[in-house]
Amino acid sequence: DEDPRIHGIRTRIRVVPNFPQPGIMFQDITTLLLDPKAFKDTIDLFVERYKGKNISVVAGIEARGFIFGPPIALAIGAKFIPLRKPRKLPGEVISEKYILEYGSDCLEMHVGAVKPHERALVVDDLIATGGTLRAAMNLLERAGAEVIECACVIELPVLKGREQLNDKPLFVLVEYQ
Ligand code: AMP
Repeated sequence: DEDPRIHGIRTRIRVVPNFPQPGIMFQDITTLLLDPKAFKDTIDLFVERYKGKNISVVAGIEARGFIFGPPIALAIGAKFIPLRKPRKLPGEVISEKYILEYGSDCLEMHVGAVKPHERALVVDDLIATGGTLRAAMNLLERAGAEVIECACVIELPVLKGREQLNDKPLFVLVEYQ
């Protein structure tokens, strides 16, 4: 019942223990990108799910959401909006702070990038605690967009990030136990 392409994707994600700090099992997607078949399968699985769903916005989270988001956006005929770390965007922005395990961070989006009632998909490589996706959803919803779903390549289910998403659907290709 699992799509046969998922296995190839899973095996091409490199897990690096204790990076960037002790206790973290870092999920390295750069090894997935080195395999054109696995990279294409990743994009295709998202495109198959979202094409024809009237989604006009794909919002990608800096930095690895900038790798997976744009090919999905192009394939489904949506615009791409980069959600960036502070002080990177030159125009007027709205900002959303969020809590990390140690400290806090912030995402920004250009004012006017999305119009009220647009249907949006949020893309990142991975959901851990869910704080980053929650902040991304907040930005889009504050601008009046409707977030249809969040999409990630990898979920770390033990961290229960899904529970931070206020019942918004989350679609992932691979769970890392
Ligand atoms: P969170 O806000 O806790 O869900 O963290 C998700 C963000 O942090 C994503 O942008 C991920 O790229 C990054 N991240 C968190 N944990 C990991 C991990 N174990 N491996 C790779 N990236 C991670």
